[in-house]
Amino acid sequence: MSLASGGVTSGSGAMGADKPPGNPGSDLIMEDVILGVHGGTGLDKKDMTPELDKKLRAGLKAALEAGAKRLTEAGSTPLDGVEAAIRVLEDDPHFNAGRGAVFTHEGRNELDASIMEGTTKKAGAVAGVTVIKNPISAARAVMAKSKHVMMIGRGAEVFSTQQGLEIVDPAYFWTEGRWKDIQRVWEEEKAKGKRADIEPKSSTYFGTVGAVARNEKGQIAAGTSTGGMTNKMFGRVGDSPIIGAGTYAEDGAAAVSCTGHGEYFIRYGVSKEIVSLVKYKGLSIQEAAQEVINRQLKDAGGEGAAIVLNSKGQWTTSRNTEGLYRGWINSKGEITVRLYEE
Ligand code: ASP
Repeated sequence: MSLASGGVTSGSGAMGADKPPGNPGSDLIMEDVILGVHGGTGLDKKDMTPELDKKLRAGLKAALEAGAKRLTEAGSTPLDGVEAAIRVLEDDPHFNAGRGAVFTHEGRNELDASIMEGTTKKAGAVAGVTVIKNPISAARAVMAKSKHVMMIGRGAEVFSTQQGLEIVDPAYFWTEGRWKDIQRVWEEEKAKGKRADIEPKSSTYFGTVGAVARNEKGQIAAGTSTGGMTNKMFGRVGDSPIIGAGTYAEDGAAAVSCTGHGEYFIRYGVSKEIVSLVKYKGLSIQEAAQEVINRQLKDAGGEGAAIVLNSKGQWTTSRNTEGLYRGWINSKGEITVRLYEE
């Protein structure tokens, strides 16, 4: 797969117009995509600043470049592209994953991640980890180096240390913006004299990250990494590390990574539901994603979004929120990045 030096487009540039009639909240299916990423559903547009807009776009672009570079190296697999792209987003403090993760009710950062290979259906996940710099690599290590699919907390951390992954002080994950978010919640709780609900839009923004990738053989993979939701209870685990909820991949059907109100995504088995609609009902990836995100979840009041890539290189997204920070790169190296409708 050659990767010529492509340009970056924002909005409905080189790769076609957005929003076909009747499909609000979805990107048109794009062809020949090798890698796509998301950085969460994000802020309301009215709250976006030009500086943050720039940084988010730069972060998404850097992730796509890193993932695509890895994908085109000899011997690499879609899993390599997914992991490389997500590591960049985890290291970027503007996204709610790795450094930049949101705080729990107790003022800690508890991170979740998962990864899945569509060819083998192998998968790995970690949840509630506090010292692993790149949880997506820990998820991959669980998949590749253990007999298990999911490890949590201290055990996952000891295992990651044994696997030689980078361990950091929990303070590494602290960022001022996220700290201010939790302080606002604490003040609100103090004023009201009761525990605040976790509401998706109550704090600055969601920013869970994810990636889906494909190679020339039609092999696909997906991964997701998050700090979860601001003010979550200790030990709360969302959809991101749950295979079938936040992440799923199956060659011939689709690779999916989700973001949004995790409790809904778990209960609706969102990523597997999308894959099953493609696999068993023969829906297009756009029809399948729209059915789950913009009908089932929307009707239930579950906010969020999904990115989807299939073995043929078709890519789409679906969201029932105003924004979804997202981007994709095709085999010519052309990158498109979008935050809202555009
Ligand atoms: N889905 C994540 C969770 O519930 C949050 C997010 O996507 O921002 O933990």
